[in-house]
Amino acid sequence: MTTNNEVFLLLGSNLGDRHQVLTDARRLITEQAGEAISKSAVYETEPWGVTDQPAFLNQVIRISTSLLPEELLRILLNIEHDLGRIRYERWGARAIDIDILYFGDAILDSARLTLPHPRLQDRRFVLAPLAEIAPDFVHPILQKTSAQLLAECPDTSLVSKIS
Ligand code: ADP
Ligand code: MG
Repeated sequence: MTTNNEVFLLLGSNLGDRHQVLTDARRLITEQAGEAISKSAVYETEPWGVTDQPAFLNQVIRISTSLLPEELLRILLNIEHDLGRIRYERWGARAIDIDILYFGDAILDSARLTLPHPRLQDRRFVLAPLAEIAPDFVHPILQKTSAQLLAECPDTSLVSKIS
């Protein structure tokens, strides 16, 4: 018997045809990792960390997967690679970045994977699309909903819904 887990992924792109990259990423994720249950609008967001780079498009999708967390990460990293991601620098420009925000209510801290994503509560570009599609989902460590985390987030960078 396989168990399906509900997983929230953050997609981000700030190089090339950003809308097309998000569309391609959603298709590959659905084909290789599991069915999409819902998706947020696309948001245009100010770069975070390294600010001297083009604006990002960000989107959160909810999928149902029978994969284990580490298997899912490996597949997502392959998809990033296939979509032409070049790692210039941490937090720098990239065609596509795919982060696992939540894997059900799993809590994990391994060399390759930290769940929930350790910085999601610090980033308005994560919390705005997450709260749009899952306002009542409770962070398994912080024990706060997405709506609460967004309301309390000190990040003031610009995040605007564009679709
Ligand atoms: P960021 O996503 O913070 O901009 P990177 O995408 O460059 O940084 O970091 C990628 C690495 O982060 C991956 O190789 C992966 O092993 C690690 N990682 C740890 N936790 C997660 C997670 N929850 N989702 C995605 N990658 C993660
Ligand atoms: Mg990443």
